[in-house]
Amino acid sequence: MTSTAAPDGGSTRILVVDDVPDNVDILEARLSSRGYQVVTATNGEEALERVGEEPPHLILLDVMMPGLDGHQVARRIKDDAKLPFIPIILVTALSEADDVVQGLESGADDYISKPYNFRELEARVRAMLRIKFLQDELDQKNRELELVNKRLKKLSITDGLTELFNHRHVHQLLHDEFERSARTGESIAVVMMDLDRFKSVNDTYGHPTGDVILYETAKIITETAREIDMPGRYGGEEFIAILPDTGEEAGEHFAERVRAAVEGHVFRDGATEVRMTVSCGVAAFPAPGTDTPEALLKAADSALYQAKHGGRNRVVRASQAEPAPE
Ligand code: GH3
Ligand code: MG
Ligand code: MG
Repeated sequence: MTSTAAPDGGSTRILVVDDVPDNVDILEARLSSRGYQVVTATNGEEALERVGEEPPHLILLDVMMPGLDGHQVARRIKDDAKLPFIPIILVTALSEADDVVQGLESGADDYISKPYNFRELEARVRAMLRIKFLQDELDQKNRELELVNKRLKKLSITDGLTELFNHRHVHQLLHDEFERSARTGESIAVVMMDLDRFKSVNDTYGHPTGDVILYETAKIITETAREIDMPGRYGGEEFIAILPDTGEEAGEHFAERVRAAVEGHVFRDGATEVRMTVSCGVAAFPAPGTDTPEALLKAADSALYQAKHGGRNRVVRASQAEPAPE
């Protein structure tokens, strides 16, 4: 909900609340003549309704009214987190210190005693509107800052080329997921995927075509993954997927689907058409030798190594792989 108050008059909307119609009329006439847009209410319930319809930039609020009194109205408005900052000036016939204290503690921002001098009232209105204007600007800046922070956060965890999670974030996610699995006993699978003979694509068709292949491979992996899976770019032409609530066998099925999809895909960059294959290594936790995130990664990496050496374009499970040479 945005409501930007102009520092002076113009489109500034003031809600005048008083149970005595004459009081409302006088204030309405004076404020209108100063260029303010005036909305009125003659009891607390009606005042809240007006605020709900469209938050005014300031409220002049009579304290003594039948039904909801000014203090109660002020409290409700200030307690409503959905509303923007709306300055409230209490207009009170009571000027005992206790009443003033109670009024300000109910959330009102200022008060003026009846009978009031209209020039003083106007000056207080202007002062409050200046604060409102600054507050609105601050709120707006904060919203912008939040948006920028969100974008920065996204950038900081995303790989620019493939739009998958980047290496650093994958490590973070793996540690988080591992901790969760260790706590809940839920299994977790890691799949490492490395394009086969990718260097020759760069050498034959050029780096930009290589980039297109990386981007499309990322898309294939994302499309194969479930909502809760976490695909990332682990290195140059190496991808990773962290699969929560997944054992080694289900991890193998995932890897096999990616492998088959890459093999069946025609990668296109303009008129250039390229066929690719990918090798995958799968490891899961809990399993022997995967009792830390690093060990789990290493197990998946060793399995990938075996897939390469076994002839590429294949999936190898850690539990079925020979131990990697040091
Ligand atoms: P293998 O089947 O053993 O995996 O062979 P390979 O050629 O895929 O592996 P190798 O590690 O020899 O080469 C990887 C190549 O990936 C080398 C590097 O230039 C290329 N590469 C790394 N990052 C990028 C990138 O962002 N864009 C492009 N186009 N190429 C990249
Ligand atoms: Mg009254
Ligand atoms: Mg490779």
